[in-house]
Amino acid sequence: MFGLDDFKSFVPAHDVGDWVEATFFDPSSPVANPEHDHLANAHIGYLWTVVENNRKGKRVIGQCETGSPQGAMGKWPRARAEQQVVEWFGSVPDFIITLDAEYCQQCGDAEFMALVEHELYHAAQDVDAFGAPKFNKMTGQPVFTIRGHDVEQFIGVVRRYGPDAAGVRAMVDAANRPPEIARAHIEHSCGTCLLRVA
Ligand SMILES: [Zn+2]
Repeated sequence: MFGLDDFKSFVPAHDVGDWVEATFFDPSSPVANPEHDHLANAHIGYLWTVVENNRKGKRVIGQCETGSPQGAMGKWPRARAEQQVVEWFGSVPDFIITLDAEYCQQCGDAEFMALVEHELYHAAQDVDAFGAPKFNKMTGQPVFTIRGHDVEQFIGVVRRYGPDAAGVRAMVDAANRPPEIARAHIEHSCGTCLLRVA
């Protein structure tokens, strides 16, 4: 994918941002998703990576993080990490979404869209103790947070105890309905985008 001279572990994927806006955020898109409305003015930085990432026996193909470096970090490593994202994205984004370039090059259109939306679903608006969406009092902008997965369960538990006891009823119901996004929509959305050649 990259020549030896221009080999980089991470490359900013600005075209992905444009594609996400046109495909999922623009209300006139056939596959627009109003569940991402809080992201309308969010700054999301996208990265392609060729670094293979295996965690706990599973291949990680995408990741969504907050833009400012997280976790215990010394002052210099933090400043260095911040400088890197500013060089990529112009300022520190609200979220950084990293995509496995190799996976995205070979997966199908539906898989690619599902992966991108999976990461977008992690990019959530925080809620207060009463469940109401939080806004920054100074700027009026949404307060962002990373949301965990709706379902974390073992297939064996669902098989043995059923979806209600296993707490996966909503997921099973969703899986039993035909997908909302039909193949025709996917062809329309991905046919106009040259992303996957990148
Ligand atoms: Zn996830």
